[in-house]
Amino acid sequence: MKYYSTRDCSLRYESAEAIKMGLSRDGGLLTPVEIPQIDEAFLNELVNARYQERTARVMGLFLTDYSIGELLRFAENAYGPEKFDTEAVAPVRTVDDKTHCLELWHGPTSAFKDMALQMLPQLLSAALGKTGEDKTVCILVATSGDTGKAAMEGFADVPQTKIMVFYPKDGVSAVQEAQMVTQEGANVGVCAVVGNFDDAQSGVKRIFSDEAIRETLAQRGYVLSSANSINWGRILPQVVYYISAYCDLLRDGKIAMGQKVNFCVPTGNFGDILAAYYAKRMGLPVGKLICASNRNDVLTDFLRTGVYDRNRTFHTTMSPSMDILISSNLERLLFDLSGENDAEIRGYMSALSAEGKYEVSGAIKAQLAEQYWGGFCDEAGTAATIADYYNNKGYLIDTHTAVAVNVMEQYRAATGDETVTVFVSTASPYKFCDHVLTSVGHQPVGDGVDLLDQLHEVSGVAVPRRLAELRGKERRFDLDCQKLEMENVVLEFLA
Ligand SMILES: *Cc1c(COP(=O)(O)O)cnc(C)c1O
Repeated sequence: MKYYSTRDCSLRYESAEAIKMGLSRDGGLLTPVEIPQIDEAFLNELVNARYQERTARVMGLFLTDYSIGELLRFAENAYGPEKFDTEAVAPVRTVDDKTHCLELWHGPTSAFKDMALQMLPQLLSAALGKTGEDKTVCILVATSGDTGKAAMEGFADVPQTKIMVFYPKDGVSAVQEAQMVTQEGANVGVCAVVGNFDDAQSGVKRIFSDEAIRETLAQRGYVLSSANSINWGRILPQVVYYISAYCDLLRDGKIAMGQKVNFCVPTGNFGDILAAYYAKRMGLPVGKLICASNRNDVLTDFLRTGVYDRNRTFHTTMSPSMDILISSNLERLLFDLSGENDAEIRGYMSALSAEGKYEVSGAIKAQLAEQYWGGFCDEAGTAATIADYYNNKGYLIDTHTAVAVNVMEQYRAATGDETVTVFVSTASPYKFCDHVLTSVGHQPVGDGVDLLDQLHEVSGVAVPRRLAELRGKERRFDLDCQKLEMENVVLEFLA
């Protein structure tokens, strides 16, 4: 299977090369040339398989220069009992006959980013061998809170790699910050950027496309790569859990083979919901993809009008991992919906960088309307949904998951669609203790990691072990910078 850029179909790369590069030099996203197809026989084989086996089988369809044995070994390392607190890895919890929740936060950092970032370092390490790379890869990450920690956790002390994480100084939760600044490992670096997530992400993209910096770093023995969801090695492990969720519902008799399910996904950079789209394109019986946003509702407007317009106020919300106005992975969707028309995509993306906006073709609008539904939820709605689930269903959900639930209910009210729906739960409520406590009617006492105990007393739900351990940890990083200083931070990190 070969990969090419959404902005230039003329050059093709093997999957190992695509994973090593992260982003194409032309600024486009590397994307598979074909989408492999699955059928009922394939799903039947996976129904009784473990999550690790499902992973190897699904990823093997796309990563043809990796062996199934190799992928299975990576999956065992990524999703084993030392890393995940449940053998199911990505369990599906039933809320009622028509509503299920795919819980993706049972990994080491308590957010769904672990699903991909426990896998990516292994794919990348193997890619260095497969492509004969002798330089050290430096991973640059811009994070809205969860990616940075999950990436460092995955890459810490992985040979031939270094990792530098930039997060928005006042844009992450106390627990998220504590997780990042206490990260262990000799090859990691962390820096707070004075600005928001888009500033950090733009800075990283700027460094990637700066030939002079690349040249300097190459002389020092480094190549740059990305662990953001622009890297194909991030998206692919996420395709697996949608197929896995379908298999679980089949296995447990909740649906019949071939029956369609909807997925409702709390969305920021459009990576997670794009993975659901690829699962659908592979032939998984999926109805609507419901795209849930917080007050940063750029995607809601886009799905309703076909106009993507980032010229709007950026809101800092209680679901910080979705505080994003430039959803990078949308580019892969548009590329697919345009019939792989790289010129059309170049047009949209240059309009986005020049004017901050673009309007897609009528053909794309029609397909968006057919496959997607977009909605958003404000802060009051998020809090009310957390309280409702807690009081009426005995289920404590985090702020991001609450956005998904709220938008799922809006969708049902607007359309009357009764299709079985799986909403995606992307973080443990313990990552956002203050807002979760307030939402269920308790005044937070103290701050930071002190609130873990309070939320435990209120809810009775166990604190994830790795979060409880943050308390005694020493702060290792205390660096911040202006957004235009990010280049220097990287050059010093790799001095
Ligand atoms: C990253 C993240 C999201 C958004 O996922 P995207 O792939 O960026 O759309 C949602 N919830 C949580 C908790 C996250 O960490």
